[in-house]
Amino acid sequence: MAISRTHHHAFLLPSPGMGHIIPALELAKRLVTHKIIPKLTFFYTPIANSNPSKAETLVLHSAIKENLFDIIQQHPLDLTSEVDPDASAEDKIAILMHELPLLFVSTISTMNLNPTIIITDFFICQALPLVQNLNLPMFAFSPTNAWLVALGLHTPTLDKQIQGEYVDEIEPISIPGCKPIYPKDMFDMLKDRTHRLYREFIGACEGAALANAIFVNTFHELEPKTLEALGSGGISTVPVYPVGPIIREPSPRSPSPSPSPSSDEGKRSEIVEWLNRQEEESVVFVSLGSGYTMSGEEIKEMALALELSENKFVWSLRPSVNKAGHDHYLTAGDETGSTTSTVSNVEKSDLFPDEYHRIQRNGIVITDWAPQLDILKHPSIGGFVSHCGWNSVMESVSCGVPIVGLPIFADQMMNATMLVEEVGNAVRVKASPSTNMVQGDELGKAIRKIMNKDDKEGCVIRERAKQLKHLAERAWSHDGSSYSALSKIAL
Ligand code: UDP
Repeated sequence: MAISRTHHHAFLLPSPGMGHIIPALELAKRLVTHKIIPKLTFFYTPIANSNPSKAETLVLHSAIKENLFDIIQQHPLDLTSEVDPDASAEDKIAILMHELPLLFVSTISTMNLNPTIIITDFFICQALPLVQNLNLPMFAFSPTNAWLVALGLHTPTLDKQIQGEYVDEIEPISIPGCKPIYPKDMFDMLKDRTHRLYREFIGACEGAALANAIFVNTFHELEPKTLEALGSGGISTVPVYPVGPIIREPSPRSPSPSPSPSSDEGKRSEIVEWLNRQEEESVVFVSLGSGYTMSGEEIKEMALALELSENKFVWSLRPSVNKAGHDHYLTAGDETGSTTSTVSNVEKSDLFPDEYHRIQRNGIVITDWAPQLDILKHPSIGGFVSHCGWNSVMESVSCGVPIVGLPIFADQMMNATMLVEEVGNAVRVKASPSTNMVQGDELGKAIRKIMNKDDKEGCVIRERAKQLKHLAERAWSHDGSSYSALSKIAL
């Protein structure tokens, strides 16, 4: 029996990590405010022995304050039970992908709410076979792009076809109807077939194939070829719909009470006021995502690049005392949190090279959670040095800002390649083979290319970025492709 749309109640299970929680909250808001689903319950999962990060608290408080849907906090997920507390981020993510679906099933079995729809993050679709017995419509939401979803849905086939490691393949890896993947760009979860993460990812992809549909944070004009390939049934028979860009609204400009502590509102205003004093499209914004910490050497090369580019800048910087890395991923934006390797007061630290100190008067450095969307939306921003995390890409696209891609791990290498070779709104800077690090002079040249109004190639890239902004707006207009696709959730 079909359920009338007005009676639907969706349960939404996101994956932890800011790059997943932010778009999942935004998806929930849109489903409710656009009256696609009248009632929704969002399941937030803290990580045991780790306080919710400051950034997580900010976005959750903001959602609680808006009061559009219920947020249920599950029992904390213990990621240290099987491995030691210093285990790698990959080990912890593998445990998370396995344990979170089980925790969700256990939570909902104790509740006397009757969901009519289940939505889970694509990366934890192991939950879908576990709730199949409820006989409800089930959906997956991927906060990444369609190309990664195509790779995911094709991975069970690749697993049988390819014998060794994908990264050792000589030829690019084909996915029917899609751009092939260079082995060196391979998604991190598929780089080591002996790692548990590999099996967990295949489990998630097999689970996703049970969904009534998969919703992806992209839009048709951005990935037409891949979306057509996904629609043709050659990769999987599960329908895949683009519903992006799913990004946050920027903070309100009025001095109304902020969901964030007043220091954050003050910091935002200070940055915006500084940006107001700069010329249009003259400032470069640097951010390598929510969890990446930069080594002293990397800070030096970035500072050199900013100095060589001669542009003003806003730099969201998480410095690391020990080494660069993404171990901070699950405690993102928590400069005083569980990790001891992050410096909270850059000015007092002598970790910073001369190059860093030399450029201080040309810009602003933010060492905790930056109001990224407010910055990207500002007319003074002319370019974005980004790690190409998919949320950052969608935000940049929505703001019409061209990208200098500095991919580091996960899906970022694929994203950067796609932006440069298919989308056309980015340049990419590669690490030097001798040092395995991006060099300041190369990065400086790339920044100049997209910022310099006389650079012919840069002009084409900037124009494309502006065109994409309009296409993204149209996708989310009332009759736009993404808006219409999202309505299919309630069926
Ligand atoms: N972000 C932010 N302030 C920061 C760092 C990140 O608001 O200081 C937001 C950013 O706008 C994006 C998300 O955090 O929405 C990061 O997601 P993305 O997929 O770009 O990268 P990840 O952090 O998952 O690597």
